[in-house]
Amino acid sequence: MLTIETESRTKPIFLSPDVIIGGHELVLMAGPCSVESYEQTRAAAEAVYRNGGRVLRGGAFKPRTSPHSFQGLGEEGLKILRAVADEFGLLVITEALGVEHIPLVSEYADIIQLGSRNMQHFPLLWAAGEQDKPVMLKRGFMATITEWLLAAEHIATRGNEKIMLCERGIRTFGTETRNTLDTSAIALAKLDAPWPVLGDPSHATGRADLVLPAARAAIAAGADGLLVEVHSNPGLALSDGEQALPLGVLPEFVDEIRKMAGAMGRGMG
Ligand code: PEP
Ligand code: MN
Repeated sequence: MLTIETESRTKPIFLSPDVIIGGHELVLMAGPCSVESYEQTRAAAEAVYRNGGRVLRGGAFKPRTSPHSFQGLGEEGLKILRAVADEFGLLVITEALGVEHIPLVSEYADIIQLGSRNMQHFPLLWAAGEQDKPVMLKRGFMATITEWLLAAEHIATRGNEKIMLCERGIRTFGTETRNTLDTSAIALAKLDAPWPVLGDPSHATGRADLVLPAARAAIAAGADGLLVEVHSNPGLALSDGEQALPLGVLPEFVDEIRKMAGAMGRGMG
């Protein structure tokens, strides 16, 4: 019989000995869209740490629509991420853009991010499945939920079971928001798949003033964590400045998402 309280199939995973995702506690992963400099990344890391975040995000290899936009600092960016994350005891998540990046990224990062544009890049999924670090698979912005879950299975069948899913918004007909946060996808993935699910309210909306409401919605739909873009000076950001939360609003943002987590019978560390 259908009941209102549904059982999630999520199996928690250990991101480190003391950071578990998919259990009672939500995990906040935050940081700049791109690693731009040591100072900018360190400022973000300090704010993430002070506000209860456990994982520092930041792109070193950026999938940019235009080849004329900032493409990331590459290995130099990975070094900065590792150094500032270690200073504050944070884990690092960063994107591997191609198969050739997997060894380098896994040398510096704790979690490998596979981006929306690469969701069905099968050789990349296989390579991520053949190494040991946890993997976060973003949903392709034009992918169905089934395609997303099958892409995750491509990783799992190569041996790596430490997979997280991330709903980052899909392309719909409106232009008012960058994408459309598919909260149904979060709820469905929680019921039908064994992997923890994150919501990315930054790429889903493309607007800093919509990040909090979208984050609340992701948590209400059952998300186990959030991936959020923040910046010390959003107006000067080299990518995705419009959707970056200024560091100063993080205390209020985290306060609000804690309340939402509480309403869902969960906590945030
Ligand atoms: C990112 O997280 O900065 C990013 C490029 O995300 P997506 O792959 O969802 O566009
Ligand atoms: Mn971004």
